[in-house]
Amino acid sequence: MPMRYTEPKDRSAELLRLALAQMGRQPAAFNPLTFTLWYEVVAGSNPRLNAAVQALQEAGTAIDDERVLLLCRDHVFPPDEDNLDRVRSDMQQLLLGVQRRAGDTGRHAGDYGAQLAELTQVLATRDAERISPQVDGVIEGTVRMKQSVDDLQAQMQASQHEVERLRLALERARSEALIDPLTGVLNRKGFDKTLRAMLDAQPPEGSTHVLVMLDIDHFKKVNDTHGHLIGDRVIQGLGEILRATVKGPQAVAARYGGEEFAILLPQTSLASSQQITEAVRARTKALKIRNRSTQEVLVTVTVSGGVAAWRPGDAADDLVARADAALYASKKAGRDRITVV
Ligand code: GH3
Ligand code: MG
Ligand code: MG
Repeated sequence: MPMRYTEPKDRSAELLRLALAQMGRQPAAFNPLTFTLWYEVVAGSNPRLNAAVQALQEAGTAIDDERVLLLCRDHVFPPDEDNLDRVRSDMQQLLLGVQRRAGDTGRHAGDYGAQLAELTQVLATRDAERISPQVDGVIEGTVRMKQSVDDLQAQMQASQHEVERLRLALERARSEALIDPLTGVLNRKGFDKTLRAMLDAQPPEGSTHVLVMLDIDHFKKVNDTHGHLIGDRVIQGLGEILRATVKGPQAVAARYGGEEFAILLPQTSLASSQQITEAVRARTKALKIRNRSTQEVLVTVTVSGGVAAWRPGDAADDLVARADAALYASKKAGRDRITVV
């Protein structure tokens, strides 16, 4: 499992102080779970968690023990295979419960049907002595049957809600496993999966699939001069730019690794891909990472890009290699530019 917290001791001490201050303002108990939550919030390493906390705060909702538990469950603990397995087994238990209850109701319905059949026969004999106890039996059976159907209905209703909840949990666990937590764009696994899906479909006449590779220029220098935390904020900044710029119905951005990003543009043209990439380049150049207290601008960066169109016969690796070669050409030509091939 990758290390979740990589802050050095002095930075973590600062985060500890900030987290304690936040904990003091909220009603939840001071337990490790609450600390984990606020630590991640003040570290800013978990954009989805921060958005969820901000939404609660804006709505004036206090973050109590129950909220802490929900926030941690939804945004802190990584949606891993265990988590998926848990959801799957919850779903299985639930379905077994419904099946059992439906089976009981089915059995009651069978008994009840037999009682009704007997009553029908007895009614045909017009034998009053025999009709009366049969009617009593049927009344009892009706009550039992109604109870059984009511129980089944209640269980079905509860199950429907539970199934819906589990379906959402499953969906979220699945999609979050493909999202990079620092930037909110697809991670490498999500990139690979989306690229495969893109290449599985032939582009229609007159369009093509386009892959863009992006790499922050001289990023090592940013880390060396300002430290990894500021470096991470630059990466987050580029993630935000990508999420704001790459918004086509299908176009998606991904963090390919470290300070490298990619844009996948299925069924599009080189010209419009070039336009989008150019917009990302210009916005990145305009990005200013500021000191949070003084607002002084600490860093600006540029990004280089390579834009490549899929050609018939290309495998995924060929397309990636061509976009990479275009990116390398941009670097060689002086950076802060994009090359289209
Ligand atoms: P170039 O213009 O040629 O791309 O130069 P560069 O310095 O950007 O390239 P290089 O590949 O030498 O350095 C990339 C650096 O990015 C090295 C690595 O420490 C840093 N890096 C990779 N991932 C992360 C990350 O998640 N956070 C931070 N802060 N730095 C990272
Ligand atoms: Mg690089
Ligand atoms: Mg670089």
